[in-house]
Amino acid sequence: MPSSFTFSLLATDGAARLGEFHTPHGSVQTPAFMPVGTQGSVKAMRHRDLEEAGAQIILGNTYHLYLRPGDRLIARRGGLHRFIGWPHPILTDSGGYQVFSLAERRKITEEGAEFRSHLDGSLHLLTPEGATDIQARLGSDIAMVLDECLAFPATHDDAVRSMERSVRWAGRCRARMTQIRGGAAGEAGATNPGQAQFGIVQGGIFQDLRDRSAAATIEIGFEGYAIGGLSVGEPLDLMYMVVAETARRLPDAQPRYLMGTGTPEDLVECVARGIDMFDCVLPTRNARNGQLFTSEGRLNIKNARYAEDEGPVDPACGCYTCRTHSRAYLRHLYLAGEMAAGALNTLHNLSFYLDTMRRIRDAISLRTFDTFRQEFLRSVSRLSLDS
Ligand SMILES: [Zn+2]
Repeated sequence: MPSSFTFSLLATDGAARLGEFHTPHGSVQTPAFMPVGTQGSVKAMRHRDLEEAGAQIILGNTYHLYLRPGDRLIARRGGLHRFIGWPHPILTDSGGYQVFSLAERRKITEEGAEFRSHLDGSLHLLTPEGATDIQARLGSDIAMVLDECLAFPATHDDAVRSMERSVRWAGRCRARMTQIRGGAAGEAGATNPGQAQFGIVQGGIFQDLRDRSAAATIEIGFEGYAIGGLSVGEPLDLMYMVVAETARRLPDAQPRYLMGTGTPEDLVECVARGIDMFDCVLPTRNARNGQLFTSEGRLNIKNARYAEDEGPVDPACGCYTCRTHSRAYLRHLYLAGEMAAGALNTLHNLSFYLDTMRRIRDAISLRTFDTFRQEFLRSVSRLSLDS
C-alpha cells in the first residue's frame, strides 16, 4: 500500500514557500512548527491547549517511546494517536539523536547503534530496519530514517565517513519501508498503513558533502527531505548558509524539514531560505525555566523587575496566559515552584511560536514576506535579553 501522504506547494515569495501536506490524520499548513512531545506528551500541556494554540502536528521521540512504555505496547493499544488521544498528525524521529545524546556506552557499527538505556542500563541495538519497524508500530504519519549524528566540530574525513554511512542506512530504512508497504505490515505490527518516510541530508558544515548527501538521498527517494546535523554549535551565519544551499538542492514538490531548530529568528530566517517544517524544544524547555519569547524579544520572568509588573507577558499575544495573568503573578508562580508556572509559560511560548508561523504563512500568501521578515527581526531584538 503506498503512502497516502501528499504535499502541495501553494505559493512562493522569494525562496519562502507556502504549502500544505495531507496525512491519514489530517492536513498541515506549512511553514509549520511542530511542538516536541517527547514521551507522548508536550511537557506541561494538555492536547486541548495545543489545539487551541494552533498546533497541527506534534513530534514524538522514538527512543523514549521504545524504551517506555514500549512500541509493542503502544501498537497493542492501537498506535500512538489512539494511545495518547491526539487525533491529528504526528511525526516521529528515528531515535538516533537520543542514542547519540542520551544513551550510555553506545557503540556504532555498520549494523546499527548499540547502546544502554539511560533508564535501566539494559542493552539495545537500534538498526535502520529496527528504527523503521518501531515507527511503523507507533504509527506516526511521518517516520524518519535512522542517521548517524556527527558531533561538531568534525573533520572533513569524519564527516565523509558519517555521511556515507547515513546514506547506506537511509537505503536500508527505505528498503524496509518498501517491504512493510508490500505486505510485511502485519509481521511488523504496523498501525498506520498511510505512513510517510522522510530522508535526512547530512554532511556537517561541508557543502560538498551536503550536496552529495542530498543527491544520494533523493536518488533513494522519500516523501520528504530533512536537513539534519545543524544547530549543534556551529556559527549561525554558517548554519544559515548550509540551510540555503542545501534547501536549493531539494525537490520543489516535496516538503523540507530543518531538524531541531530553533529560535523565533531562526524560523523566519530559515523560511526565507526555503524550509517548510521545524521542531525544537526551545519554546517548551525555556518556558519551564522561566524564559519567555515575546514579540519584543525574550524576557526572564524570574527577574526582580517584574515583581509588580501588572502587564501581560506580551501585549501583542492573545493566548490565555496573556489574556488572564500579569507578569507579577507569573513571576510569583515561578518562584513558588507552582506547577501552573510551567503550564502557563509553555502555553504562552508555544502560542507565540505557532502565531509566528501563522503570520509567516499570511505574509507569504500576500507576497509581503520580506517586509514581515525585516519588521519581525527589528521587533524581536527590542527587549534587551534580561536572562
Ligand atoms: Zn501569550
